[in-house]
Amino acid sequence: MRLTIVGTGYVGLVTGTCFAEMGNNVTCVDIDEKKIENLKNGIIPIYEPGLEAMVKRNVANGTLHFHTQLKDCLENCDMAFIAVGTPMGEDGSADLQYVLQVAKEIGQHMTTPLIVVDKSTVPVGTADKVRATIQKELKKRNEDITFHVVSNPEFLKEGDALGDFMKPDRVVVGTEDKETAEKMRRLYAPFFRSSMDRMLVMDVRSAEMTKYVANAMLATKISFMNEVANICERVGADVNKVRIGIGSDSRIGYSFIYPGSGYGGSCFPKDVKALKKTAEQEGYDAQLLNAVEDVNDRQKFVIADKVIGHYGDDLEGKTFAVWGLSFKPGTDDMREAPSIYIIKKLTGLGAKVQAYDPKAIHEAQSFYLKNVPNVTYTKTKYEALQNADAMLLLTEWKEFRSPDFMEMKDTLMEPIIFDGRNQFDHTRLDELGFTYYQIGKK
Ligand code: NAD
Repeated sequence: MRLTIVGTGYVGLVTGTCFAEMGNNVTCVDIDEKKIENLKNGIIPIYEPGLEAMVKRNVANGTLHFHTQLKDCLENCDMAFIAVGTPMGEDGSADLQYVLQVAKEIGQHMTTPLIVVDKSTVPVGTADKVRATIQKELKKRNEDITFHVVSNPEFLKEGDALGDFMKPDRVVVGTEDKETAEKMRRLYAPFFRSSMDRMLVMDVRSAEMTKYVANAMLATKISFMNEVANICERVGADVNKVRIGIGSDSRIGYSFIYPGSGYGGSCFPKDVKALKKTAEQEGYDAQLLNAVEDVNDRQKFVIADKVIGHYGDDLEGKTFAVWGLSFKPGTDDMREAPSIYIIKKLTGLGAKVQAYDPKAIHEAQSFYLKNVPNVTYTKTKYEALQNADAMLLLTEWKEFRSPDFMEMKDTLMEPIIFDGRNQFDHTRLDELGFTYYQIGKK
């Protein structure tokens, strides 16, 4: 099929590249000229394992192209995917300006029948708005070209995006049109070689809702476990043991019940807010979602509070090594990362921070911690420990799981670890003489 993917960010680039990998002819479009220029030169704007090689392979095969002008990419195109950002608006709702701008451009320039696919995460009712926007533009042009708007939310997770896209748990397609559903089925068939049972076709509104509910459910599990961790700590229980105790119950399971420094990233915070807003617009007070968010806001500061509990709230003259800046391992994405909040809090109290992250230092330096004073960056995790009073582990990258504790002990001024991701075995660290703080255990 001939596909146009509008928006070449995390979702658009992965989507376009994976469809190209299956033999489709794909053009990825973005208004960011520098990004497109870089992609044409083989420079990938994000870190995502395996993506660079797949992009290069498909560019070389002639199945993947990059362009800045949507209007040039619509003629004889079978499907146009909208994969632009839907950031949080000022009132917490999803800001649809980028999605509707793309819809407008499609209406202004389409010349042949088209399936328009909403892949961005958008509130219930957005497909209707996209349809109306395109229709309005066609009417202005006195054109009557057939088109259908489909909801096809994306569930990939950064850090394992290719795996998720190539072997999806499910693909949700919202359309009421049988022929369109069949075309979507054909597009996704190569990703389901054993069975198409995981291709779920439903009405558009339910498809739009499914994406928000999936993210809200996962955020709820995280906040629930963080709440449990904070109670464990106060009553002298160990959340690490409680986690195993409940996860072994097949009704509960082990996934997404790790306590930590709260959820971040580009999706959970904004999607929980947007779902709350949708409920509010319908006159419904989503109490559980309010609590999920409140717990998370508080959780981001738990590790900073432990540092303050240890040293007091005047951190002048203290230096902390920070291991991990990205909101989770496997990505350079720092949007809403707990590290931002923790580092700002500590430096605000006078501390210096020496930070190391395998992939996200550029993001921190260029955007997220750009104007935060007293933060420096190191090339290795051990270098960050030099002359530091303690180490804070904030992202659970694999390379932090089994460090050389003796080297750490020799390098740190004092052997103190504040672990925001419960990565280490406290018995072993006790034996080695570390003072070890973690989440959910006194
Ligand atoms: P992103 O910010 O990484 O990328 C969006 C891209 O769209 C940018 O490159 C921007 O320049 C481009 N863009 C904006 N307006 C445009 C226009 N008019 N024409 C062409 N390009 C335009 O965003 P993302 O993380 O890929 O997210 C995209 C959508 O997918 C969001 O709705 C998000 O919630 C959803 N989503 C994201 C993830 C994720 O893990 N990042 C997962 C699932 C769903």
